[in-house]
Amino acid sequence: MRILLVEDDPALSLGVGRAFGREGWSVDVLHDGRLALAAGDVGVYDVAVLDLGLPGCDGMDVLRHWRARGARVPVLLLTARDELGDRVEGLNAGADDYLVKPFDVAELVARVRALKRRADGRLSERLTLGELELDLTQRELRWRGQRVHMSPRELALTELLMHKAGRVVPKETIVATLSSWEADFSENSVEVYVHRLRKRFADLGVVIKTVRGFGYVLECAPAAAA
Ligand code: CA
Repeated sequence: MRILLVEDDPALSLGVGRAFGREGWSVDVLHDGRLALAAGDVGVYDVAVLDLGLPGCDGMDVLRHWRARGARVPVLLLTARDELGDRVEGLNAGADDYLVKPFDVAELVARVRALKRRADGRLSERLTLGELELDLTQRELRWRGQRVHMSPRELALTELLMHKAGRVVPKETIVATLSSWEADFSENSVEVYVHRLRKRFADLGVVIKTVRGFGYVLECAPAAAA
């Protein structure tokens, strides 16, 4: 998944960014409220983590602006102190959750995961297709209970395809989900990763079909001909 992190504390944004990276998530970081106000399409993100105390423009104003523009991205607020007024105001302004600093990064990761789960309408952190099972908490793909080794990016693409199994995932969606401002992910890289996944899936009972000019569909392979 792709996350927007708006946090002006360099050490904190670095630590959180790394933790998100370990989950296989792409993260774009902004350090200034004005940049967050001006950020183009916030809707490309799966979750936004927004600090309230920002230089340039207050996080609360950023949140109000996003919601006024119709951005539906789930937003988790980071608040400096445990101030009831801020939390209530933030939730009323359209935030979905909040965390009070200092916090444990493991809790932030779990809350972001929960926001994504809710947005996807899932009940658990497991996606299944045929005999494949993706455990989103452990970041592990298993086939018949055996671990399938994958790079974080391959796993992120697998997650996207499994989440929409049987439906076409547009190439642009894959680019948007797997790219971040630091590491540009092109349509050509999508083809490279799809090629790699096809090799890995060769004996696992699922196939990635190309829908020419549009995207890809992951589905169960037809039973092998006798
Ligand atoms: Ca701050």
